[in-house]
Amino acid sequence: MTPARTDDAPSGAEDGRVTERPCIATGRRRVFLSLGSNLGDRVAHLARARDALAALPNTELLAASRVYETAPQDVTDQPAFLNQAVCIETGLAPRDLLHACQEVERASHRTRGRRFGPRTLDVDILVFQGVEMDDPELTLPHPRMLRRAFVLAPLAEVWGWACGMPELDVAGLAAALARDQAVRPYDGVEA
Ligand code: AMP
Repeated sequence: MTPARTDDAPSGAEDGRVTERPCIATGRRRVFLSLGSNLGDRVAHLARARDALAALPNTELLAASRVYETAPQDVTDQPAFLNQAVCIETGLAPRDLLHACQEVERASHRTRGRRFGPRTLDVDILVFQGVEMDDPELTLPHPRMLRRAFVLAPLAEVWGWACGMPELDVAGLAAALARDQAVRPYDGVEA
């Protein structure tokens, strides 16, 4: 599918796409994910990730935010990241989706180096409809999402697709964090 943007996204229950197809009718659940890349052809890595997620079994890509360019955090001596948020609807269980995301990362030749260090592709599961869990392999909602503007700014654009998610002022949180963390829509022109 063609990724949708905020301006296409439903704004509330009155929107046909939400009320005509409640998540429960498909047996699938909505999931928000964060994509990031700061090595190689960053745009291509994000595009391949979106395509790979859309091709997962019993899964549909519902929406994708614009791509943002963001300054690295935690480990700052590395190239800038491109980040994007996507919303999918999937029949996969949370751990199966995690393993599928890790496979998508591997397909982009992701290697595990320094924690928070450079990577061709990072795929994080942010929020999984109806799921809260905390185990060594998978924590949901993602434990660091609320303190990262590079996650929340793109997420705010697709949050209109939320269904059965925690009540969160994603846009407000993103705006507050963006005062201190450099995030800007990526126009394809290197800074
Ligand atoms: P990262 O370096 O960001 O790719 O971290 C990946 C590690 O975080 C893996 O070992 C995952 O098992 C773990 N992890 C825990 N919660 C999540 C989540 N919500 N999404 C993705 N990875 C997670």
